[in-house]
Amino acid sequence: MKILVIGSGGREHALVWKLAQSPHATHLWCAPGNAGIAQERLAGNGARVECVNLGAEDLPALLAFARQQQIDLTVVGPDNPLALGIVDLFQKHGLRIWGVNQQAAQFESSKVFSQRFMEKYGIPTAAAGSFDDVAAAKRFCAALGGKCVVKADGLALGKGVLICSHQAEAERAVDEIMVSKAFGAAGARVVIQEFLEGIEVSLHALCDGATARIFPTSQDHKRALDGDLGLNTGGMGTYSPTPFLTDAQLAEAARTILEPFLRGCREEGIDYRGLLYPGIMLTQDGPKVLEFNARFGDPETQVYLTRLENDLVELLDASVNGTLDRHELKWSPLASVCVVMASGGYPGHYAKGKVITGLDAANALPHAKVFHAGTAAKDGHIVTNGGRVLGVTVLGEDLKTAQAAAYAAAEKIHFEGAHYRRDIGAKALRPGA
Ligand code: AMP
Repeated sequence: MKILVIGSGGREHALVWKLAQSPHATHLWCAPGNAGIAQERLAGNGARVECVNLGAEDLPALLAFARQQQIDLTVVGPDNPLALGIVDLFQKHGLRIWGVNQQAAQFESSKVFSQRFMEKYGIPTAAAGSFDDVAAAKRFCAALGGKCVVKADGLALGKGVLICSHQAEAERAVDEIMVSKAFGAAGARVVIQEFLEGIEVSLHALCDGATARIFPTSQDHKRALDGDLGLNTGGMGTYSPTPFLTDAQLAEAARTILEPFLRGCREEGIDYRGLLYPGIMLTQDGPKVLEFNARFGDPETQVYLTRLENDLVELLDASVNGTLDRHELKWSPLASVCVVMASGGYPGHYAKGKVITGLDAANALPHAKVFHAGTAAKDGHIVTNGGRVLGVTVLGEDLKTAQAAAYAAAEKIHFEGAHYRRDIGAKALRPGA
């Protein structure tokens, strides 16, 4: 099978790495890919993965490439091409593609759409309101006592969510999003949610339009610095599984979230084939959905795919075909930890082109895999080429072992300005967790 993966981050490296292990894969391309992706080889025939210099949002060029190479399955990593309708476009031209269509991508691209859907179909979520009127929005914040979360409706590079602790702050947040248009058109409408206390976890479920197969839990670390301090980032590390939900509680969460989700999709005529990634708060009243994403998480994918024992080509194929009910997901009992190594200054300004050393030594450690995110090849070296540079991912017998091994691997890697959090997984190792 000829496969094309779209994207260039750590998530896409993990997808390529896992797809390359499948005997079904005969050719594998990645657009645009990165230096680590370009080093992967197919397990079946030893062929190298080829990176193609096409942007993930250049839909016409991607379509032309897929037609020319007669790609059998295209796999979409990031949210933007999904929201732009790449799946609809490829399908219109008779090409098989994995990922949600434009209608289903609205669960991520519009918070108002998601919130209304959750309320209509009884999916547990925060008390919330959707507004296109500034005064009404502020009145709703006041009704919540000012302690609330103001969210721009549209895609805002993960930045359109403002957490407020009192009314004046909430009014400033509404003004920033709706009046000053800090996030552009994404802020024409807002969702305002009550502030929920609890532990946050990521859920993932693979869907085929009728069936959803839930993954084990994982936990992301969004802030740049240890102890959840510093600025928000794309994600500084993950681990799986978490101790915060038992298997029975996870099954219960799947029932209360995924069943009404699938029923709602059926009733609204939404054909949800792809990955559903709900961000969840574990509150005293049970798990509540904060938001839906319509693609794999980054860096959640790195810990999930190192634990997944199924053939990923077969699973994604089943997700496209609507035959997921014939597949059970199989997971390694080992724990996985991914530590993201970032460029100095990230998530603010950072330099590129710093030479990275120690990658082979880190990869040579048992159960270790260094996924590349922002890297490039230059003059025979691998150099930094983005904010999040690497996802050092290691499996261990339990979380503590995996965590120690991930940090031992990260210590082998060097580049000027490198920084990473030292507490990935620490919350789960605290007594009583
Ligand atoms: P979102 O993009 O909607 O997931 O929001 C980004 C982050 O803001 C989440 O990962 C949470 O940490 C936080 N957040 C969002 N909604 C709420 C809420 N209702 N209560 C508390 N924290 C929230």
